[in-house]
Amino acid sequence: MKTAPRIAIVGGGAAGMMCAAKLKELGVPAVLFERNPKFGRKLGITGKGRCNVTNDTDVPGVLANVPGNPRFLYSALNGFSPADTKAFFEKAGVPLKTERGNRVFPISDRAADIVNALRGAMGCETVHERVTGILSEDGKVTGLVTGNGKKYSFDAVIVATGGLSYPTTGSDGDGYRFAEDLGLTVTPRSPSLCPLVAEEGFCADLMGLSLKNVEVRVTDTQKKKDVFSDFGEMMFTHFGLTGPVILSASAHLDKMTPGRYAVHIDLKPALDEKTLDKRILSDFSEEKNRQFRNAFGGLLPAKLIPVFVSLTGIRPDKPVNEVTKAERAAVLRLLKDFPVTVKGFRPIDEAIVTRGGVSVKELNPGTMESKKVAGLYFAGEVVDVDAYTGGFNLQIAFSTAVLAAKSAAEKYGKTVSEEKNMTETTKKTVNIAIDGPSGAGKSFLARSVAKRLHYVYVDTGALYRAIGLYVYRKGIAKDDIPAAIACLPEISLSLEYDGEGTQIVKLNGEDVSGPIRLPEMSMYASAVSAIPEVRAFLLDTQRDMAKKCSVIMDGRDIGTVILPDADVKIFLTASDEVRAQRRCLELKEKGIETTVEEVLADMRIRDENDRSRSVAPLKPADDAILLDNSDIGAEETVEAALRIIEGKVSSQKS
Ligand code: C5P
Repeated sequence: MKTAPRIAIVGGGAAGMMCAAKLKELGVPAVLFERNPKFGRKLGITGKGRCNVTNDTDVPGVLANVPGNPRFLYSALNGFSPADTKAFFEKAGVPLKTERGNRVFPISDRAADIVNALRGAMGCETVHERVTGILSEDGKVTGLVTGNGKKYSFDAVIVATGGLSYPTTGSDGDGYRFAEDLGLTVTPRSPSLCPLVAEEGFCADLMGLSLKNVEVRVTDTQKKKDVFSDFGEMMFTHFGLTGPVILSASAHLDKMTPGRYAVHIDLKPALDEKTLDKRILSDFSEEKNRQFRNAFGGLLPAKLIPVFVSLTGIRPDKPVNEVTKAERAAVLRLLKDFPVTVKGFRPIDEAIVTRGGVSVKELNPGTMESKKVAGLYFAGEVVDVDAYTGGFNLQIAFSTAVLAAKSAAEKYGKTVSEEKNMTETTKKTVNIAIDGPSGAGKSFLARSVAKRLHYVYVDTGALYRAIGLYVYRKGIAKDDIPAAIACLPEISLSLEYDGEGTQIVKLNGEDVSGPIRLPEMSMYASAVSAIPEVRAFLLDTQRDMAKKCSVIMDGRDIGTVILPDADVKIFLTASDEVRAQRRCLELKEKGIETTVEEVLADMRIRDENDRSRSVAPLKPADDAILLDNSDIGAEETVEAALRIIEGKVSSQKS
């Protein structure tokens, strides 16, 4: 029989989605766990919502921008390089452009296009639950457990949970806990790519001032050496400094203590001191009695001048022709070396990237698998590697994800066709299809048979009802087909079973088994079920259930479309009046007051919808056995069905 996917991915961010995309490409089924209803939330806000998706460089070019542990990334980057990232997104229909510093962005400047491209490439089963732990036995992964205590079996789990930055997007470090619980070493986390808090109060006065084309140099005052220098844009904030060059610099500031690092801003990097001195002299000579504080209009942004003037120590109202050579030297110094002392990082939750994480010493660089726990893989920011700004961190997330996915697939995965072969040689799961109009008694019959034969009962109407419920809750009209179709990417459905074997339908992680039974949901289900896109959306979910184990599945198109090779097909029917009476009774038992006439009218509309729709219309399969139970009771119907099933299944065995 087909086994359930053996590989789980935890985390639906950049790395997790890329893992899922790679596994899909390899044809290996997987299950992706993401606690948020949406995927790629952090990815959607990176690069100020533009998403610097990679850096247009080669592998050594990336490695040169990784301060710690670059060698660890060698295989990952060679297996999936920046060129591969570019090709991936371009192929997915997202044209890219390259900006200053080889930074690659979508031409649209919309991070959402990147998220959607990844989402579109995924194609695996998704579960919107929070994973709380990874299970292992004898040094091997056996599965995982989610917040509601549910356990899932897997042979391999790829942890792609991200770092500690932006906790509101879901990055709160669960992955570090999993690693530690399984005995792996996690190196201390600190912010990287993070704004800097300054000692000097003048930053607050300069709040909002952005300096373009400055050179920023950072010195380590303890070691008395420069640790960073680059050109670009920076900004003053109420607490200190931020902006692209500052974020880049922050990744170089190891073992931060107050006052250890000093930022030196060259406000005029294009002019050397001599040229600058000439320029100042000429500015001063324009109007000899001009006050010192009014002499910088051509040189500095207005907001900066008062702070600048006060830092020179020169009297603001001093006429410029009285400024001495030594004083001019101080002005020059300040223009070329405007100093800000770093007090520390802003809190880690404001960092774009987290430094530290699962120790690379304990991961196999050729596979991303843990050396201690077989089947445990890590990808993306959770791993103790980080890079400077410029698209390198996302590239690393993608490269490690592809490597982890490929390695897990090779070692633990089975492609769909391999599983199909296995199904053919090792099964026999039995699939029974029960179709028929509403109120014919399909669900009672199917549930009873499932209990007797120890099969799993799958009520497919519940899936359509759940989609109907989603559409209804969004306030969309029943006949607004485009709006209903637009909902599909937001919907994740799963069928689960409680201890009694009762089916539970989950809509984006929420148990909706109750609300989908409300009478108004029937009409919504009926409406959405006529939409071809909705039927296509549910096809795999239903087929997958039937591959996993012996099922008895009821619906409208099970024998005709969903399981055309079902072992037994029964088309259950009864006269309209009988069906209406039964449905009415059923509803009354649930405390829903209605009349036979009302139910009959509703049923006739739904049946007509089901019979006349263009896709998967309600009709008996050619090889279905018709069972009319207008004149027999429910128990008798079950007995009749069991006889049919026994006859069919045993004749197949012989
Ligand atoms: O079976 P139930 O009444 O719960 O199904 C709700 C609606 O979903 C039906 O009226 C039908 O229109 C639709 N449906 C379907 N195909 C299925 C199951 C249900 O079209 N396999």
